[in-house]
Parts: sequence; structure tokens; C-alpha cells
Amino acid sequence: MSKQLLFIPGPVTVADPVLAAMSAPMVDHRGPEYKKLQQDVQRKLGPIFGTTAEIELLGCSGTGGLEAALTNMFAPGEKVLACPIGVFGERFVEIAKTWHVDVEVLPTEWGHGVDPAALKARLDADVNKEIKGILLTHNETSTGTQCNMAALAEVIRPHGAYTLVDSVSGLAADEFKMDEWGFDIVVTASQKALAVPPGAAMVAVSARAWEKMEKLPTSRYYFDLRKARKFAEIGQTPWTPPVSVIYALDTALDLYAQEGAANVWARHERNRRMVHAAAEAMGLKIFSAPGDHSVTVVAIHVPAGVDGDAIRKTLRAEQNAVLGGGQGKLTGKIVRIGLMGAVTEDDILAVLGAFETELGIAGHPVTAGAAVAAAKRAAAGMALV
Ligand code: PMP
Repeated sequence: MSKQLLFIPGPVTVADPVLAAMSAPMVDHRGPEYKKLQQDVQRKLGPIFGTTAEIELLGCSGTGGLEAALTNMFAPGEKVLACPIGVFGERFVEIAKTWHVDVEVLPTEWGHGVDPAALKARLDADVNKEIKGILLTHNETSTGTQCNMAALAEVIRPHGAYTLVDSVSGLAADEFKMDEWGFDIVVTASQKALAVPPGAAMVAVSARAWEKMEKLPTSRYYFDLRKARKFAEIGQTPWTPPVSVIYALDTALDLYAQEGAANVWARHERNRRMVHAAAEAMGLKIFSAPGDHSVTVVAIHVPAGVDGDAIRKTLRAEQNAVLGGGQGKLTGKIVRIGLMGAVTEDDILAVLGAFETELGIAGHPVTAGAAVAAAKRAAAGMALV
């Protein structure tokens, strides 16, 4: 099968050395080779999460990591304040409800990050400290929107609720300071900004979260983080891990270190600027509000009278380039351009040019070449070292 250029927000295009790492011979997952691999990976992940906390590796996608985080932290009946800003935040609410946690939702208009003042007002009103947990989405993939995590951390700290963060599509693409911000569990997955095939979730757990978990009368079986922690002491997972994905993750973390975290963050920001500039040149509106833009996925309004899904189909069929569509109530209303993974500046320019052409064919007035020129100018304005 020919290689697709993935501009969906995960799974993403994987670099050749990372793919090659997947074909390493299988090893005994209870042996010394795997032990070294797992411990290396855990150590290399720490700085990316901004933590010295333990990071558990789970053989599942991001949703499994979120379910593990929630169901290990809270007993049914405990109250949590969920702060969804799109489809994935709503899924976190569903997970909590499925576990019979008492969920209150702090509403946010889609396209915006959580308003720190609104969160502060709700937490200030919780004088009896009934809220035991807070659920946040760092980067909301369905709307291309990011929360200001430092500002949210500041208003949460005085309250003291345990904070669970879905950073499935955010972590590694931008600076994250789990320890400094005081978050309790942060979840990510392999197939996003770390640019590894799907199959592993990573769950970082603070010391005080472990303490709460150890005392909790309820637990899970497969997704028991306490078991994961016990096995991690001997460089193992309780159940058979996705060994090949962990090999790939190890190689991807080496590539990440070679590029340098600051350069990786700058690359994502530059990609974002390229797409924003191109959208503007095509007369299209970005869905996320200024100041709340995601660096990993850009959501763009589809103009009235244009079928964004038909354009996506054409790009897939003719260019082998795959873009994301709208989800939930945004179905048919936006296209999403994911910017994680091993895509180059040329790849981005190519897809923007093809998008502009199709937009013109669909009847939207465009100036041929304007999108690519704007994106090139944006890229030139932010050189990478
Ligand atoms: N949260 C966010 C923010 C996501 O982007 C995704 C995946 N798109 C998920 C959760 C779910 O992750 P997975 O598909 O790996 O289960």
C-alpha cells in the first residue's frame, strides 16, 4: 500500500527509523532486555511530561489511559468537576459517568479553552470541598483548541482537588510542566505528537495521587494502576505489553531528544502558523479563538456552500493526503489539519496547495498560489534551528 500523508490528528506519519524499530526481533517481556527497554522509555518520558513522577505504560490507546486514570483515582459517588471543551472532553465525562462518579460539568463554548476565572469562581464556591477531582483536556482535538494549563493550575492549586489531564493530543508538542503545575495524573498516547504507531498509553501519576489510590477500596482488574506500579518496579507490566510499540517509542524518544524539545515545540508552532496564514489567504476562518489555538491541529470553518468532506475525499483519492473532518456537532462544518508526526514543510505546502485548488473548484473564490505563498512567508518568519 502506498504511503499516506496523514494530516489527521493521529495516528500520524511515522518516521522511518521508528517504523524500522517495530521490526526488531521479539524478546521475552519478563526478561532483562525488555526490562531495560521499559526503564529507558520511562526515564526518557519524564522531561516531556515535566515530571519526576512514575509513568506507567499501558497496552491500550489513549482512552484506556483515561479510563485507568479516572477509575483508579475516584470511587463511584465521589464528585468531580469536568471541564470539557469539545468531543474528547465530553468523552471524559462519559467515562466518569460510566464509573458512577458524580459529575458536574463546567460549560465552555467550543473553540475556547477553559476560562480560568470561571473555574476559579466555581472552585471558590465549593467551600465544603465537595469537589474531589477536576477533569481537564489540555488540547481538544475536535476543535483545535488548547487550554492555558499554567493559568488553570494556578486557580486549582488553592482548592486542592486532584486534577486529571487528558493530554493525548497535546503532550510533547508544547512545553508541559506536570510537577510545577501540580497536576495529579497526565495521560498521553503513542500515536500523537510522539509520532509512534498506536498501541501504548502513558500515564504519569503524582505522589499524592498514588497515596489516594492506595487507600481507595475500589479498583480495576486489567487497568489497575497499583498493579502497573508494582510491576514497573521490576521493569515489567502486569500483562503482556505491546513490545514492538515500546521499541518504536524508545526510538521516537531518541529522535525527540536529538531534535531537542524546544525545536519540536517550535516546529509545531511554525506548522500552525503556516496553516493559519494559508487559511487567511483563502478567506477562511479558524474555528479556535485567538489565544486558544492548538499547535497540533488546526480546525478551519468550511465556507457556506462548500462540501468540506467532498474536498477531503478528493485529496485522499488524488494526493494520498488525509485530512480530518468535523466531529459531533461540528460534523460537516469544519476541516481539521493535524500537524503532528513526520511531515515536512514541503508536505504541508503541498497539501495546502491541493486544498486551495479544490476549494476553487468547489466555487470558493481563491487566488491561485496565495495559500502556499502565505504559508511559505509564515514559515520563513519563524526559522528553526
Ligand atoms: N483525548 C484526545 C484529546 C484525543 O485527541 C484522543 C484521540 N483523538 C483521545 C482522547 C482518545 O484517544 P484514543 O483514540 O487513542 O483512544
